[in-house]
Amino acid sequence: MIGAIIGDIVGSRFEFGAAPQKGFELFTSDCSYTDDTICTIAVADAVLNGRDYKESLLDWCRRYPDPMGSYGNRFYQWIHSEDPQPTNSFGNGSAMRVSSIGWLFDEWEDVLEEAKKSAIVSHNHPEGVKGAQCIAEVICWLRLMRFSKSDVERKVEKFFGYELPPMRDIKKIGAQGHFDGTCQETVPMALRCFMDANSFEETIRLAVLCDGDTDTKACIAGSVAEAYYQAPEWMIEKAVSYLPDDMLEILGQFYERIKDSCGQRK
Ligand SMILES: [Mg+2]
Repeated sequence: MIGAIIGDIVGSRFEFGAAPQKGFELFTSDCSYTDDTICTIAVADAVLNGRDYKESLLDWCRRYPDPMGSYGNRFYQWIHSEDPQPTNSFGNGSAMRVSSIGWLFDEWEDVLEEAKKSAIVSHNHPEGVKGAQCIAEVICWLRLMRFSKSDVERKVEKFFGYELPPMRDIKKIGAQGHFDGTCQETVPMALRCFMDANSFEETIRLAVLCDGDTDTKACIAGSVAEAYYQAPEWMIEKAVSYLPDDMLEILGQFYERIKDSCGQRK
């Protein structure tokens, strides 16, 4: 979960800013948490405290109505409508907020079911649901089953139908100014960044350097990388310094809950 938040904060200043350059500084005063972190906290709060996913998402997003980068158009309307209904969305928002579910449930059926429930309140298009299920499941595979990266790549294709694009293609369309906003695009791109990197930090850097939806790509890639490498302590310390107290409380609750069962690789 902190892997997602680190990716979001590091990627935040490039989402609508200048293209990232190799060797860029990870944390600056221009960075902030964005909608990815807010929604990640909301989903974790729902599971940890027995709240309805929709109620928790609405509560957190209304509490933080104007984050850096704002919310996607359709999701913004969803947050502010009187009676929010699913929008048939396949935006990448369902996948960027799901990471805690990959840690808080151990049975694959539960992971798939909860990921679906967390998605369908807003992102009920089959691709929106699939994106969330895939990321939660990959996190669970990595932390509990210790699957290798190549096993993960094979299973992602077999069970979810995602073919991970080569890195050069991702970089090319990013450099052309393409903005990946859908699960179908961002999920396989973020997974490719994880596959090709050799550390947690490199995963985040690669995802940001691909440009496009930098914060969400780094958020999703970081959420997966955390289950494989663990996030470095210094990056965790930096990231939490950007977060308000109510988010830190949920984060603390989350790590307290998983501390005996996290199964992280050393
Ligand atoms: Mg964002």
